[in-house]
Amino acid sequence: MARLLACFLAQDGHPVVLLDHLPNAPETEDTRLYALSPLSLQILETHGLYSELGPKRCRVFSDLEIWVYHEPTRVRFSASDIGGFLLGGLVYARDLNRVLMERVSELGIPTHRFDPDQLERTSQGWVIGTGDAAFQASLLVVAEGSHSRLRERFRIPVETRDYGEEALTFGLATEHDLGSTPRQVFTPWGPLGLLPAPDGTLSGVWSMPAVRAREWLNRSAPSFEALLSEATEGMGGRLSLLAPPRSFPLRCLHAQTYVGDRLALAGDAAHVIHPFAGQGLNLGFLDACALADDLKRSGDGSEAALRRVLMRYDRRRRRENQKFLLALEGVRMLFRKPDLLGLRALMLGALAQVALLRRPWVRRATGSQGRRLLVP
Ligand SMILES: Cc1cc2nc3c(=O)[nH]c(=O)nc-3n(C[C@H](O)[C@H](O)[C@H](O)COP(=O)(O)OP(=O)(O)OC[C@H]3O[C@@H](n4cnc5c(N)ncnc54)[C@H](O)[C@@H]3O)c2cc1C
Repeated sequence: MARLLACFLAQDGHPVVLLDHLPNAPETEDTRLYALSPLSLQILETHGLYSELGPKRCRVFSDLEIWVYHEPTRVRFSASDIGGFLLGGLVYARDLNRVLMERVSELGIPTHRFDPDQLERTSQGWVIGTGDAAFQASLLVVAEGSHSRLRERFRIPVETRDYGEEALTFGLATEHDLGSTPRQVFTPWGPLGLLPAPDGTLSGVWSMPAVRAREWLNRSAPSFEALLSEATEGMGGRLSLLAPPRSFPLRCLHAQTYVGDRLALAGDAAHVIHPFAGQGLNLGFLDACALADDLKRSGDGSEAALRRVLMRYDRRRRRENQKFLLALEGVRMLFRKPDLLGLRALMLGALAQVALLRRPWVRRATGSQGRRLLVP
């Protein structure tokens, strides 16, 4: 999302330098498939990037199905529940990275490899680099992911909790075509998301206790495929792994402030959520929009004006993300334990039957709440 923010700022006329990995870094090999909300797709399109991805690299969907393993009720959330036609798009991380890097280069944004040891705070702002290569900046945006070293260096306090879980991600070929609908099955082993990729394969994200993930990571392909067939109750016919699963340790994290002295946190550097809802990057995109939007109104560019801008960004985004994190934890807890009181079954039954009850969920998934960032 750092690249997206750089594009926004450059387009608004701010001089921007991207401190980034240089093109062709290994991250272009990230095999994850992102579910992006319609709002995120709209944000990408402000730079013509959605059309750049095109149908070959972005598979759109209008429905999403969830159910609990071996329970009869299936809830189908649909864009039509709120009179829309799009619930999101599925894009490989490597494709998204590639089109963003291309746009950064087209906009002429200078890109430097970053050495955190060559960063100095001065009375005017920041000096980055040494010798002839050094340059000054009035604001440093830290968007370097969940393990942000700068967040730690500037001692920005965070609330964090290790879930004790890992997410296994993998690509699958199915015997029968499952269409474009993403599915989420709450299995006794952990939530399993199955996302139809633009290349016609299926991308899986299975979160589970770390000990189990470690063990399953070392299973043979046939053994893992058998576990998947069991968890999906035979859906799609014979399942074949396309490559060995990869593992991502999971934790939740929320910075207690998103701003500091001429400094702003954005994306996973500020907030990390469980991937079962596929919303982390979507939140990061909204951070980028909000920060760019606030900086557009930074008035005379003085230190005091910048401080006001940062305070506004912190207020808006931290409050919004906090609400989302709490809601997501509630849903996660609901599906985590056996449904002893039958409340979950009752809720799913009602959701499956009544479109009115599905609407707030669909609005959230489409990102409708963040739309005011695009239309101030
Ligand atoms: C299994 C899994 C599935 C997910 N699925 C989805 C999904 O479907 N939809 C969704 O919205 N979200 C999803 N997420 C969440 C999503 O991956 C993150 O929210 C998103 O990648 C955060 O973007 P970011 O740019 O803030 O951080 P990152 O993606 O971590 O990027 C940070 C960048 O900073 C670079 N960097 C780090 N340190 C430095 C440095 N010192 N100098 C220069 N560069 C540096 C890194 O190399 C990286 O390029 C998923 C997460 C997981 C684990």
